[in-house]
Amino acid sequence: MFRVTVKCERIAQRAWPDALEDVRTEFRSRPWHSIVDVKWSGDLLLLVADNDYDSSGEALADEFSDTVSAYAPGTAGYQVDVVSVEVIGDTAMTPRGRFRNRLFLYKLALFATWAVSGVGECYWLAPDKLNPQVREFWFLTYKGETMLAVWLAAFIAYCVAITHFRCPRCHTRLRLVKDLSGLADWARGRDIDKPCPTCGLDFDKEWAPPRVAEDGGAV
Ligand SMILES: [Zn+2]
Repeated sequence: MFRVTVKCERIAQRAWPDALEDVRTEFRSRPWHSIVDVKWSGDLLLLVADNDYDSSGEALADEFSDTVSAYAPGTAGYQVDVVSVEVIGDTAMTPRGRFRNRLFLYKLALFATWAVSGVGECYWLAPDKLNPQVREFWFLTYKGETMLAVWLAAFIAYCVAITHFRCPRCHTRLRLVKDLSGLADWARGRDIDKPCPTCGLDFDKEWAPPRVAEDGGAV
């Protein structure tokens, strides 16, 4: 779900006293937007609405502009812009949820590599393809060495990958055990409330930056 804030400039509040009621009335016939707030901020008319599809905020801005044009008295020269778009509710995730998903994918990639190369090994090193003396020292054959190298490389790649978690706000590198304990299965439940050690971001609260922020001071 997207929470879009749009603004209308260059119409004075006193010039359109029924603005709030007019906007609410018009948007009752546009049920794909759900109005969260409509208010004046000085002579800036602000509309905040939720919808499922408007990731750029342009759809709401267009319809808000149509509304202003239809209802506002003397509308020459007004301007409607997107102020911000936030991802909220079910499409948003907490940073810890994203870290967990990434850790799961890394693990999946590691095990998949091991599994695929294990199957390869079974075919390559099948008893009928090696004589008995060589079979005992399969890991010294070039095939065996290749397999071990693949397994080791996959494990090293996994170890490197899990040291590359970063805070989504300040981009500090986070240590899996010290900063993100509770992420790994074996550590789950320990100190899971730790925020980012650098900027203090709470990893258990939704955090998504606004996609557009042209005029943050106005809201
Ligand atoms: Zn941080």
